[in-house]
Amino acid sequence: MKYTVITGASSGIGYEAALAFAARGKHLIVVARRVDKLEELKAAVHQMNPELDVVIQIADLSDTDQAYSLYNKLEGYEIETWINNAGLGESASIADQNLKKVETMLRVNIESLTILSTLFVRDYAEKEGTQLLNVSSALGYAIAVGTITYSASKYYVSAFTEGLAKELEIKGSKLKAKVLAPAMTETEFAKNAADLDHFNYQENLPAYHTAKQVAGFMMDLYDRDEVVGIVDQHYDFKISNQLYPIIEG
Ligand code: NAP
Repeated sequence: MKYTVITGASSGIGYEAALAFAARGKHLIVVARRVDKLEELKAAVHQMNPELDVVIQIADLSDTDQAYSLYNKLEGYEIETWINNAGLGESASIADQNLKKVETMLRVNIESLTILSTLFVRDYAEKEGTQLLNVSSALGYAIAVGTITYSASKYYVSAFTEGLAKELEIKGSKLKAKVLAPAMTETEFAKNAADLDHFNYQENLPAYHTAKQVAGFMMDLYDRDEVVGIVDQHYDFKISNQLYPIIEG
């Protein structure tokens, strides 16, 4: 049995991505801190297809030891696709940002993503049909004033993943690495980034996608050979080859 691993599957894009992979008949390993939300997801998947295996893994990815132990716990599973989607933002100018939250953000968005990507590449680079999908952001390609540290963390995700895709291509590896870069998406993200109880997307934003739409973009990227799937300034989803300049050798 082959599995799709999705971190940050308890809400938003990760939750909808899990349903989208389930709709393709994929067994799932879903990761987050909130077990009740993952149980809810498991029930929704089983309502769609009771034959699918849904494995729940609780991990706090702001603790990098838990990233290693998560990976080690999955040793017995054959993984087809690994999706590093878990992430958070901090909406504040640099002088005003909450450094505790920033430390947490950098550990989840950068450190755990790097650890999990590296461990997956080590084991799966030569396995046919495998993919590593890292969720960056449109702000991983344009610096957003007011949330610069988050934006910079996503520049890391984009550069790391685009570079990895090139490295795998040069080595002739079977594993494909891809980066999904959504723009504003209606999830729990904005309220958590701004420390609000609620954020009304319709009232506050001229344009945004739903998490279900973004999960659809992820599936489009999954089906293609290119490396980057990005939502542009017109809110159109575009799939392309590497966007960052890359120096080989
Ligand atoms: P979301 O609804 O807040 O979901 C974030 C997910 O990450 C949740 O499942 C959460 O699970 C998990 N997570 C957060 N901290 C974690 C931790 N310490 N350990 C383990 N899991 C953790 O937001 P979303 O919009 O779907 O975000 C998904 C990805 O899309 C993120 O990487 C985000 O940066 C990116 N993105 C979002 C937007 C947007 O506008 N929403 C735009 C571009 C990119 P628990 O809380 O249960 O742990």
